Amino acid sequence: MERPIIKIILITLFSLMVGVIESNDEVSNFGIVIHGGAGSFSDLDEKAINSYETGINEALSAGYKILEQGGSSLDAVTAAVVILEDLPLFNAGKGSVYTEMETQEMDSSIMDGESGKGGAVAGVSKVKNPVLLARKVMEKTEHVMLISSGAEKFAKEIGIELVDPSYFYSEKNLKRVRKSKEDEKLGTVGAAALDQSGNLAAATSTGGRTNKMTGRVGDSPILGAGTWAQNGLCAVSGTGHGEYFMRLLTAADVCKLMEYSGLSLEESTNLVVSKLTQAGAEGGIISIDSNGNISAKFNTKGMARGYQTNQIPRTFRVYKKN
Ligand code: ASP
Repeated sequence: MERPIIKIILITLFSLMVGVIESNDEVSNFGIVIHGGAGSFSDLDEKAINSYETGINEALSAGYKILEQGGSSLDAVTAAVVILEDLPLFNAGKGSVYTEMETQEMDSSIMDGESGKGGAVAGVSKVKNPVLLARKVMEKTEHVMLISSGAEKFAKEIGIELVDPSYFYSEKNLKRVRKSKEDEKLGTVGAAALDQSGNLAAATSTGGRTNKMTGRVGDSPILGAGTWAQNGLCAVSGTGHGEYFMRLLTAADVCKLMEYSGLSLEESTNLVVSKLTQAGAEGGIISIDSNGNISAKFNTKGMARGYQTNQIPRTFRVYKKN
């Protein structure tokens, strides 16, 4: 009499276990990590930190919602970066810093880890959201990068919003460039995401460095330097002294070390940041790998960043290293 009962219990337990295993298989990890610049943040009081948190949380919400609903990592990083470009607090889009000539020249790039394609714009001064134009360069042209007036001509042709340069006017940023050659505004923005289909994407946007030479282009629009995404490995966005990121190919290095040396994301990002430090560069990188692991490393006092995945609750940090 007892045996059939035991058999039924065993069969029920077994099917429950199989069910759990099967349903776990169906859950693909997804998530997004965002940065809002790296540096000393020495002038940040609590109110300013709260504004960074509000901005980054808004961008996280937009990006995470897209991923949660099954949308693409490309759409998630685009939405997140657009939000940060529209906030004057960050050094991208609306809040872009001034060059030595008191002009504003913005750079941005985006990369799709699935196709390996990327798009970028550099030295644009009338494009409201440079990341949207970078994405169109990737999707609608045979090229990877368009610059200044050529990029703006393309924007006009395809209906990407152009604004009068006065839209970017900022007394605070003007004072900054006039006051001191050393007064760096932080706040380059970037995002890296993994979607439920396993596709990785990354995007970066910046006004560059305060008091930069007119015509100077940094790492942010250079694929491999400031932005990289490669399915099966990782997606990366960097912030910091761009000239070094270009020389070291910092963003791609993170994924290539994983690819060629079999390092984990954690090991790889630690090594890449130590290379920046050795070279004398200040900066940081955010990244997500194809399993949804997140890494945010920097050698500056702080890096404003936030992340959320289906495994990790929403987190915002500036100074703490992990
Ligand atoms: N990497 C940017 C540049 O060099 C600046 C920054 O991230 O702060 O243009």
